[in-house]
Amino acid sequence: MKLKFDAIFLDRDGTISHDPYGYINDVKDYDFFDFTFEALELLHQYSDKFFIVTNQSGLSTGKIDIDNLESIHAYINDEFRKRKLPLKNIYFADNYDEDYFSMRKPGIGMFQKASEEFNINLENSLMIGDSIVDMQVGNRLKMKTIFLLTGMGNDYLNDVQSTCDVDLVSNNLLEAAKDIRLILQ
Ligand SMILES: [Mg+2]
Repeated sequence: MKLKFDAIFLDRDGTISHDPYGYINDVKDYDFFDFTFEALELLHQYSDKFFIVTNQSGLSTGKIDIDNLESIHAYINDEFRKRKLPLKNIYFADNYDEDYFSMRKPGIGMFQKASEEFNINLENSLMIGDSIVDMQVGNRLKMKTIFLLTGMGNDYLNDVQSTCDVDLVSNNLLEAAKDIRLILQ
């Protein structure tokens, strides 16, 4: 059976993990939501490629140290690998550039890179996130989009609903994984 999505792109903070301070600079402060892996097991039925795409502009302001970011991403990779979840790469944007092609969401840079490096058809992919920029970049690339109310989601909900084209709004990643059939045709 052909899998539904070429790839599922996940935002990091507020989507698969808590977002307590707006940035995280220590692996000890990095906590997955308790439902994240149950959700990812369900989502894995629809794609054999996951990517994480995360804005980490704290790198350019000194709030985040690159070694600490790498420790966090090594931890994330280990947790996916333990569960045989195919996390193909973690892309991060380290500055505040907001051009159309920039790495920082809603720039399309991280997605273009994934598309080139892993031969992904973005129009046949899904973006899941809790920020308006996640939905904006998904719209730019004609991806399917799921907006989550975890993290910053509640704060962005009105703006997202009035300015973005969102396929599904869910309370959290697990609910999204259970309701994903609503956006499959
Ligand atoms: Mg987020």
